[in-house]
Amino acid sequence: MKLLEDKIIEYGQIKHGNVVKVDTFLNHQLDPFVVDALADEFIRLYSGSSISKILTIESSGIAIAYPVASKLGVPLVFAKKAESINLDGELYTSKVFSFTKHREYDVIVAKKFLSDKDNVLIIDDFLANGSALNALLSICTQANLHVEGIGICIEKCFQKGGEEIRSKGYRIESLAMIESIDADNQKIVYKS
Ligand code: 5GP
Repeated sequence: MKLLEDKIIEYGQIKHGNVVKVDTFLNHQLDPFVVDALADEFIRLYSGSSISKILTIESSGIAIAYPVASKLGVPLVFAKKAESINLDGELYTSKVFSFTKHREYDVIVAKKFLSDKDNVLIIDDFLANGSALNALLSICTQANLHVEGIGICIEKCFQKGGEEIRSKGYRIESLAMIESIDADNQKIVYKS
């Protein structure tokens, strides 16, 4: 998606450690025009699908997933990061290894918010090694629901998540696909 690619070129900062910082418009300060356009694009890509819920992970995913849910008129469920889990059987749980914080944490979704009748579209800001997405997919498997597809704003194709998860048969639509980055020269190459 050209708008997103151009915004990343204009405002993105490439950090050592394979991190692309987009806090000017997506991760800290939000540009509502951009976020709204991203939501429209996800909706266009999944227009043939009857989606019952949007699923994302806090916190960055929420801002992007919300307009998708709002425009589709369906609930948005976000997996919450949990300090300690009360294993009372009411929660779906999974583990994420944070790419940016270099530590593992638990994520939870209350069972009452996802059921086997749901057809879910998963939305997130970045796809890198796939840990966050795999945690959401594990929660979907636990709920025995159907995953219609996945919508990612920025996929870093040089990391393994996208290829691994596509090879399991999931549909992933990424609006900007980065083939390589160079922190020393602040250079980004998109997948053509
Ligand atoms: P993964 O679990 O696929 O390795 O990483 C995805 C998660 O880590 C995303 O939810 C996002 O919050 C964070 N993340 C991964 N790569 C980047 C990056 O380059 N920049 C930023 N800002 N966040 C990232």
